[in-house]
Amino acid sequence: MIMAPIVPSPLAPAWLAVPDDPNALGAALWPDTARRDADGEISLGGVPVSTLAERFGTPLYVVDAATVRTQAHALHSAFADAFAPLGQEPTLYYAGKAFLCAQMVRWVRELGLSLDVASGGELALALAAGMPAGQIGLHGNNKSEQELTLALEAGVGTVIVDSDDEIRMLAELARAHGVRQRVRLRVTTGVHASTHDYLATATEDQKFGIALADAPATVARIRAQSSLEFVGMHSHIGSQIFAQEGFAEAIRRLMGVQAVLLQDGPAPELDLGGGFGISYTTADRPRPLAEIAQGIVRALRESADEHGIPVPKVSFEPGRQIIGRAGTTLYRTGVIKDVTVHGEGGQPSGVRRYVAVDGGMSDNPRPELYGADYHAVLASRASGAAPGLVRVVGKHCESGDIVVDADYLPEDVRRDDLLLVAATGAYCHTLSSNYNLLPRRAVVAVEDGRAWTI
Ligand code: PLP
Repeated sequence: MIMAPIVPSPLAPAWLAVPDDPNALGAALWPDTARRDADGEISLGGVPVSTLAERFGTPLYVVDAATVRTQAHALHSAFADAFAPLGQEPTLYYAGKAFLCAQMVRWVRELGLSLDVASGGELALALAAGMPAGQIGLHGNNKSEQELTLALEAGVGTVIVDSDDEIRMLAELARAHGVRQRVRLRVTTGVHASTHDYLATATEDQKFGIALADAPATVARIRAQSSLEFVGMHSHIGSQIFAQEGFAEAIRRLMGVQAVLLQDGPAPELDLGGGFGISYTTADRPRPLAEIAQGIVRALRESADEHGIPVPKVSFEPGRQIIGRAGTTLYRTGVIKDVTVHGEGGQPSGVRRYVAVDGGMSDNPRPELYGADYHAVLASRASGAAPGLVRVVGKHCESGDIVVDADYLPEDVRRDDLLLVAATGAYCHTLSSNYNLLPRRAVVAVEDGRAWTI
């Protein structure tokens, strides 16, 4: 395709490069099956986006079944390879909070994953969709008696306990049910990992877990309960982590405490949580999973050697790594508005094109909640027009209702185009609302030319 000369917008953020071709579908961002056909229209799982829009309406969440499989296999093999020298293969719990429905539970089962749930609602759905209870881990900082009872009655594999209060309640309930419940203790390591680096803080001022320094005393209280079986610690250091350093530092701290715990009883397992980062924009560069997995294994080995203890049986809880790139959101454009933006001296510093779509913060609140950046392309057609800076916004009654804060779309973007936003599979549908009484949007799966609501 012939492109007009490329001029960076003065309003563009520094990280955003002007694309050579704004029609391009970069492999790291889009589902495996995303293609442009000869006319330039995108299809997903062999289904053209115009067909999806016609059949299911917009906005529409589209989940590419093939990519869910690819991602699960990639995680399995990265961790299986890295952990092979330790003589173990880690257990992978899919973090259901990223996206959950009955179809997702069936995929989780087929793909040999276990499942992490964070409420009685997620647990009920998982059980109803046929997830074996023994492969479920139940999270939550404020689980109710009803939720714990449901877990005990179902025979949930592990409860991740988060407070002394919960330990007492669960122990009593387990005793009353005549069962011995496996539990992990959620601890805060003081390592908070973010995208590119990690910050080591002395204490973690947050609602989850028990400070690592308090773990030995808390584990002693768990072990004192005959209705509870302590299986190990659980640590989740954050989300959208691009490299291994944060995990390695957490492991060094955890293994120091692991050595103390082993003096008084078994602690056979260690759950290192989720948080493996993905690309949301053309600028994101997460390190390859294999490299992260190897870094984790190195840290485990070195710490085990240092303390003269065995490496425990490890598990992880990836969410967005499995479902993030598999999901896209299809929108229809409406109002296009050019706004002149003035600099400090009152002089115009540039023109920002606002492209409004038929959804917004109700189908994806992450830009507003976390300042998350996303990437969009024109999906119903390819265009030879030059790339122009746009802000894609929703239709809600909030000025912060932003779908894509900054990106380049062909300058001839117009009303009634279809736009596709990449990597919306995780934490979009599950965080969605019907704010302003916009309906909650359908989710469809696509595969081999078929599309069905899930
Ligand atoms: N495990 C726990 C305890 C979490 O809180 C989260 C996310 O918040 C995850 C796993 C999944 O994180 P991600 O989707 O970033 O892999």
